[in-house]
Amino acid sequence: MSDTYDALVLGLGAMGAAATYQLARRGAKVLGIDRYAPPHEFGSTHGDTRITRIACGEGPEYSAFARRSHEIWRELEAETGLDLLTQNGFLAISGAGNRSANHGVEDFLGGTVAAAEAAGVDYEILDSAALRRRYPALGVGDGDKAYHDTVSGFARPENCVTAQLQAAAARGADLRLGETVLSFRQQDGAVTVTTDKQTYHGAQLIVAAGAWLPAMLKPALAANFMITRQVLYWFRARSEAAHAEFAPERFPVYIWQLPAPQSIYGFPATGGIDEGVKLATEQYDVATTPESVSRAVPPEEVREMYETYVEPFFPGLSPVCVRSKTCLYTWVDKARFIIDRHPDHDRIIVASPCSGHGFKHSAGVGELLAQMVTEGRKPDPRFSF
Ligand SMILES: Cc1cc2nc3c(=O)[nH]c(=O)nc-3n(C[C@H](O)[C@H](O)[C@H](O)COP(=O)(O)OP(=O)(O)OC[C@H]3O[C@@H](n4cnc5c(N)ncnc54)[C@H](O)[C@@H]3O)c2cc1C
Repeated sequence: MSDTYDALVLGLGAMGAAATYQLARRGAKVLGIDRYAPPHEFGSTHGDTRITRIACGEGPEYSAFARRSHEIWRELEAETGLDLLTQNGFLAISGAGNRSANHGVEDFLGGTVAAAEAAGVDYEILDSAALRRRYPALGVGDGDKAYHDTVSGFARPENCVTAQLQAAAARGADLRLGETVLSFRQQDGAVTVTTDKQTYHGAQLIVAAGAWLPAMLKPALAANFMITRQVLYWFRARSEAAHAEFAPERFPVYIWQLPAPQSIYGFPATGGIDEGVKLATEQYDVATTPESVSRAVPPEEVREMYETYVEPFFPGLSPVCVRSKTCLYTWVDKARFIIDRHPDHDRIIVASPCSGHGFKHSAGVGELLAQMVTEGRKPDPRFSF
């Protein structure tokens, strides 16, 4: 006879690790299960860095999660000694003429300003002269302008997952890694999860399966989600002097609505010149699955990225791509999150807060998920199925 848990958590990536930690912190008896050993490179939570912003151009409903995540990460840094959060500032850059949308938002700069006003975040607006003076690494055009704040920056996704799993285990959470969930069901006021190794019983289940989620839902629910392949690139600077312009002390994270098909986002250099400078665009045109996605990045794809998005806008970066990685978005229309009880099973919570901008919110979302289990807290209806 196996144990009965207060909560089972399916998936220990960004969201599941956060939920498991928050449940354990509240004294709940919790079991977390993952098919791999997070952090790993098969889902959505890898690649060294994630932008974090409290003023979110995607909508003011997200700010409280990011703000709370910053607090939780600082607490976890003190507990674990791991580096989780760097607040080196954020630029939302745009300008006149045809500009790419970001996360489906046409005026991302304007949306960011509105969110900053709503969340009480101090910011300034920089014109192209100020941008060129402060950030020579960016080849901004005449008339470009930017929102800038100093509370934003980047989180370390792998370390955040590690810290939360460590802290959860230290508080008594059971973690089963390398174990694949085959099915789950709700029956007689309880939830049963069957893995390739065992069957578990719990009062409630949180499904935080990332890109694997749609395959676990009936077609009408799965139709909410689209899995897309994304590529991260690290390009080498042309010289040590050019690399130094990307140092986190002087260079922020940014999202840039380009006069090009996609916006671009990127980070300061987090290592030496040979480790390159990370940047990426996004694509929403081709759907994939975690099983069928092509994880290789062929040279033609690197060349196209460099010629279209890097060379025209980053004069200090060379065509040498020192590293690339593929990663998966679980996209919902209008860049929405879904955090809701399963429409047919009230003891099963579905957590899909991704749409390409979920990481910054993950620690706060984990707290919400734990409160849904332990206190019956209801999420914002904007996150419903
Ligand atoms: C390229 C890229 C860049 C991004 N940039 C940013 C950014 O700058 N800022 C930001 O805020 N967000 C960003 N995001 C979004 C953010 O990273 C994701 O929203 C977040 O990491 C998703 O976490 P998750 O827990 O939902 O998924 P995952 O971390 O993928 O976790 C899902 C877990 O479920 C497990 N699992 C699945 N099926 C099973 C099963 N059957 N049995 C057991 N375990 C299972 C998997 O192994 C996995 O560990 C980015 C995402 C990508 C891909």
